Amino acid sequence: MKVKKNALKMLKEYLGGFGKIVTLGRLLAGGSALVAMVTYYEIWKIMDLAISGENLEKIPAMGRTAVGVMILSMLMYVLALMCTHVSAFHIQANMRNKLMKHILTLPLGVFDEEGSGKIRRVVNDSTGATETYVAHVLPDKAVAAATPLGLAVLMLAFDWRIGLICIIPIIIGFLFIAGMMGPKMQESMKYYQNAMETISSEGVEYIRGIPVVKTFGQTVFSFKRFGAAIDDFTSWAINYTKSMTKPMVRFMTAINSVFVALVAGAYFFSRNGVSPELVLNMMYYIIITPLLTVAMTKLAYSGEQEMTLVDAIERVDKILAIEPLNDNGSKLMPKDTTIELENVSYRYPNAKKDALSGVSLKIPAHSHVAFVGPSGGGKTTTAQLIARFFDVTGGSIKIGGLDIREIKQEELMKNVSFVFQDSHLLKRTIADNVRLSKPEASDEEVLYALKMAQCTDILEKLPEGINTVIGSKGTYLSGGECQRIAIARAFLKNAPIIILDEATAFADPDNEASVQKAFEELAKDKTLVMIAHRLSTVSNADNIFVLENGKVTESGNHKELMEKGGKYSTMYAEYEKSVKWKVVA
Ligand code: ADP
Repeated sequence: MKVKKNALKMLKEYLGGFGKIVTLGRLLAGGSALVAMVTYYEIWKIMDLAISGENLEKIPAMGRTAVGVMILSMLMYVLALMCTHVSAFHIQANMRNKLMKHILTLPLGVFDEEGSGKIRRVVNDSTGATETYVAHVLPDKAVAAATPLGLAVLMLAFDWRIGLICIIPIIIGFLFIAGMMGPKMQESMKYYQNAMETISSEGVEYIRGIPVVKTFGQTVFSFKRFGAAIDDFTSWAINYTKSMTKPMVRFMTAINSVFVALVAGAYFFSRNGVSPELVLNMMYYIIITPLLTVAMTKLAYSGEQEMTLVDAIERVDKILAIEPLNDNGSKLMPKDTTIELENVSYRYPNAKKDALSGVSLKIPAHSHVAFVGPSGGGKTTTAQLIARFFDVTGGSIKIGGLDIREIKQEELMKNVSFVFQDSHLLKRTIADNVRLSKPEASDEEVLYALKMAQCTDILEKLPEGINTVIGSKGTYLSGGECQRIAIARAFLKNAPIIILDEATAFADPDNEASVQKAFEELAKDKTLVMIAHRLSTVSNADNIFVLENGKVTESGNHKELMEKGGKYSTMYAEYEKSVKWKVVA
């Protein structure tokens, strides 16, 4: 069974001091299987006496020995499981700790790119796969390897001819299954895991999108990527099953044909008469051969489990390989909140062209600016780069005269708050959710932030006010309401730079007005960068930047841009038309 990489070697760095305990667990498990052979030997002796009819009085003692040895073997196995479980939990905890510590250092953009569902799956499931492997598969493998060895010795010792008859079909079956393993199988396992990851992350997106589905009367088919992920997995599963049919049928046929071989053997060996010894051995082999079959099947499947483990560890390593944001330990502080982009370019990993190229702009401290432009123009990317979701691939971004790469991550986060469209709330109380930005805040501060974020009406309708757990029975909030709570969070944080992504769609106009009001309150005296989707909200901005194809094509205030008669004025005219059309409609 060829597995490209040795799974245990890969686990080594997470073993801590538990390597020896894992080895002890495996030895105990293997030992328990060998000790169990004594029971099978005693059974043979009992059968021998029973058939010969001599020394029958010895049988009870033999029976007791058989049972006693079986109990000893079971105790050894339990001990083995204890060793491997303790080690497995330790390894899993090590892996999760390492992953979580690393994830905390990663650029925020990674979570968008990788999909939080995928990362969750690795932290949860891949480390879980490791736990299963060490706790269960390793001791089972030791048993599965020791059992056939012990049984083979017993079978060949009593009657090597019948022994061979039993063993040969099993070896043939094993050769069939060995042919299935190898690099192709490893590829299949990887594909399977990938498909599961994609379904998981697309599933999460779908669930998150349910409010949109309901509001706009869409169906599951609108979530093309989710549908495609399921279809892809279905066709893989069908193809994989088909490709495994023949080898599996051959394997199962070979190992289960032992009984046919035994019958044929019995017929052959009894052609000169039936000796009691032949009857004894035949009966005995019929009893113990299934044990051999079961052990061999387990051994065959353990190869698959090893591949799953190799794949899981590779996934963990892949996350660990993502470069954290460099933090040079600088203690420099930005002198104010002026934001300056100098010739900034950014290309997403694996993208063919730049999402931003040569963007230069200046946002003076305390000014309010808006990014507008067609979808895909680069508004979100620019805003995210300012919050250092990723590092620019060219040029530089400065806050208060300092390159943001020179500012300690914590310091930068203290200075910048962002409220995005899909405000994520945790399944905790409203107060906890608001307090995420300032854990030491008092209830009064939380209530004030909620009031300023226009959340009073939300609190009034909730049974336990700020102590209501979001997502608990009957407390589902609409997108606009969630966004207002997220604004309250930003209020409490009171960072001097605010990045806002205006929502594109609101289910009801009341919500829209409240969110707008909350935005206005939040932005007072702050440096505000707003990603604007509707032009009605930008006319008061100090400066408007029109972003198209990753470049700033126009800038100025509303009046200047309207007078200029360029892209902005065209967009504005179209916008007004659409508003009128909506009113008429
Ligand atoms: P806007 O906010 O103006 O709609 P974005 O900043 O989201 O525009 O996108 C700018 C460009 O970057 C688009 O061409 C978009 O396809 C691309 N882009 C955005 N996010 C990613 C991503 N995660 N990976 C690759 N390309 C992306």
